[in-house]
Amino acid sequence: MAELEGLHFGKSDFVLLDEVTMEQFLENLKLRFEEGRIYTFIGEVVVSVNPYRQMDIYGNDVIEAYRGRELYENPPHLYAVADAAYKAMKRRAKDTCIVISGESGAGKTEASKYIMQYIAAITNPSQRQEVESVKSVLLKSNCVLEAFGNAKTNRNDNSSRFGKYMDINFNFNGDPTGGHINNYLLEKVRGRVCVCDLLKSLHLNKDPTDYTYTSQGAASTDDRSHHRAVMSALKVIGFSQEEINSIYKILATILHLGNLKFENEAENVQLVGGDLVMHISELTGTEVESMRKALLYRTVATGGGEVIEKGHSEQEASYGREALAKALYERLFGWIVGRINSVIEVKNYNPALHGKNTVIGVLDIYGFEIFDNNSFEQFCINYCNEKLQQLFIELILRQEQDEYQREGITWQHIEYFNNQIIVDLVEQPHKGIISILDDACLTVGKVTDSACLDSMNDKLGHHPHFTSRKLTPTDKTMEFNRHFRIRHYAGDVMYSVEGFLDKNKDPLFQDFKRLMFNSSDPILKEMWPDGKLSITEVTKRPLTAATLFKNSIIALVDKLACKEPYYVRCVKPNEVKSPMLFDDARCQHQVAYLGLLENVHVRRAGFAYRQPYDRFLQRYKMTCEYTWPNHLMGSDREAVEAIVLQHNFEGDVAYGHTKLFVRTPRTLFTLEQERTAL
Ligand code: ATP
Ligand code: MG
Repeated sequence: MAELEGLHFGKSDFVLLDEVTMEQFLENLKLRFEEGRIYTFIGEVVVSVNPYRQMDIYGNDVIEAYRGRELYENPPHLYAVADAAYKAMKRRAKDTCIVISGESGAGKTEASKYIMQYIAAITNPSQRQEVESVKSVLLKSNCVLEAFGNAKTNRNDNSSRFGKYMDINFNFNGDPTGGHINNYLLEKVRGRVCVCDLLKSLHLNKDPTDYTYTSQGAASTDDRSHHRAVMSALKVIGFSQEEINSIYKILATILHLGNLKFENEAENVQLVGGDLVMHISELTGTEVESMRKALLYRTVATGGGEVIEKGHSEQEASYGREALAKALYERLFGWIVGRINSVIEVKNYNPALHGKNTVIGVLDIYGFEIFDNNSFEQFCINYCNEKLQQLFIELILRQEQDEYQREGITWQHIEYFNNQIIVDLVEQPHKGIISILDDACLTVGKVTDSACLDSMNDKLGHHPHFTSRKLTPTDKTMEFNRHFRIRHYAGDVMYSVEGFLDKNKDPLFQDFKRLMFNSSDPILKEMWPDGKLSITEVTKRPLTAATLFKNSIIALVDKLACKEPYYVRCVKPNEVKSPMLFDDARCQHQVAYLGLLENVHVRRAGFAYRQPYDRFLQRYKMTCEYTWPNHLMGSDREAVEAIVLQHNFEGDVAYGHTKLFVRTPRTLFTLEQERTAL
């Protein structure tokens, strides 16, 4: 039993704390971290602290110890959660999901990989070839996505610049048959830096530091072996040599674009140095002249349906080039994800033949971000976390309380903050921040970030979770001229509005889209379907970045909402990647915004397990002389009462109208043991 781990390791479940206070919580977390116990339960939730050192706790022997066991039989571990999600999926044919959250560098991606490794290890015992190949593609996909989507940042050497949700599909045997990946908000600017890892081998006759885009993020670790691993992963997944070549060409294009310069010459903008454009057009399979033109001019349709060419200013030209490089990168990433999906998609699954196809989803997504300077990206990320918090409230708190009420169980009401009001502040049609941003972006003519802020102030100045200039008229000259503040569930965040509009708009000139669509490289062309339309045909404006993000997060929440959720909450112990240091203030902050104390409160107030009387009876009737082989009691409920009494569990259960509620896992664990011992 987990409790038997020994007292000097602290409490293995925060539910067992003497008092649920921040102080005790932190003390326990710290004690365990210092003893090398990086995982602790809150009921079925695993709290993890990044050890910043290799731990000897992921081997096959450990996997075996967790396999098929009940949560409380072993010390807290990711494997316990992975197994619980897997069991629920296999035994009860439930779709489940594992939500991994925490701030940058807290260990989310590592956790998601251990969870996938665990699932891979415990499935397909008969080593069937087709299942093995599905598994290897699922595992290899991580390596490829990391190579293209991760970057070295000051917070994490291998930071994911995108959120990832991966569905793993299972057949009735509980073996993986395929999967699907969704990615969220690739941060283009930083993501691109990591290209250097791959590009070293491209022999772009210069040093990485000579390319503007790679010089900002020095390649670390062993690039060559890493590159080999990525290449081998691409091949295992099934990328053809032609596709790999195209990927390289696009990456090289992006680097060359970064070095393109423009200069003003007699009022006209010119390109500096002709070679680069030649390389770029060769790599992208486009005409040199067309490329040059797209870099220097844009085509606009006048009101009268006339089409004219308008020369760029130097600033517009650089801006256009930047936007092209970013878009190439983003579309390449999206295409790679799509390509992986086409390989792992479940094919020819016939439910009549193969039984219900069940799913485990694994979500590795950036946690709440509060920096000194918060911009559009933080706004999106924090909105996403509000949505996930909402889901958490929905699934855990509200459903719990509602069910107890429905079942007539006395239950102490827990006060919790419902953050719907903040979600609305951001996403409500016509009135929310995103809608105001979009309006500003659609307005013809020049709307500045500051004008957009005015509009937010007008419309939201009265909102209890929005602080603006209106509320602080004396602050006029101060920060509220450039900032707005949202009172998030996790705390107040001040956002600098600068750059919001540009980041929200689709910044790419149509000319580039058409140019890429007309590329002679079929793979590049495939990434630009929207370049098909001619200038006079383009009527609808593309959706803005914020709206696209909002739609994808709403779709994500819908997907998660119909699954049984399991949570991994990752904590980063310090800012200096040290295995020794537990920074109390930093950890306290994270415990607070991960809502962990609330979590413990709910767990302690509630019942960990529940089962309808008939199901409970079916499963455990053989453990009681009054119910086995025949139960002679009146109702199922009476029979269940007999089982409970025989085992002296009265203190640990409550009887609802249709279900039995069990407070601690130990009770069920004992019954399970007796059942299998018979
Ligand atoms: P981001 O949001 O920036 O992507 P993240 O939460 O995904 O961050 P990871 O990349 O998983 O963070 O972890 C950061 C680093 O911490 C890893 O590269 C690794 O060095 C270390 N680390 C995390 N978890 C573990 C672990 N369980 N054992 C050993 N080291 C770990
Ligand atoms: Mg990550």
